[in-house]
Amino acid sequence: MKDCLFCMISSKKINTDIVFEDKKILAFRDISPQAPVHILLIPKMHISTLNDLTPKNIEIAGHLIYNATKLAKMEDIAKNGYRTVFNCNEWGGQTIYHLHLHLLGNRKFKWPPG
Ligand code: 5GP
Ligand code: ZN
Repeated sequence: MKDCLFCMISSKKINTDIVFEDKKILAFRDISPQAPVHILLIPKMHISTLNDLTPKNIEIAGHLIYNATKLAKMEDIAKNGYRTVFNCNEWGGQTIYHLHLHLLGNRKFKWPPG
């Protein structure tokens, strides 16, 4: 989608620190990390928010989550634990309207979140 930052990242129009890629998804390091490990996993196809998942595209959510667990192992944060987050819309803290899964780790997180 034109003017979508993460579409530009997935089409390599913007240089990014990519850690994993396959046909359907891309994972890259967050530009403003909130933890020592902070990776974003995105579908290559434009989906704006979690609310836009449908029976037709729902498998992408499992693919993002499964690959987050693989990256957690690769980054050596799986054993201690980590956090995965989909922020949805304004009150959920979403600022980029292209679906993304945050993978955060290498520090202890508080609950409930702020
Ligand atoms: P949200 O607040 O929408 O859940 O998360 C958006 C995330 O994208 C934020 O953590 C922010 O730091 C990250 N971000 C924004 N712009 C860029 C960018 O140009 N490159 C990278 N790698 N991350 C970005
Ligand atoms: Zn997009």
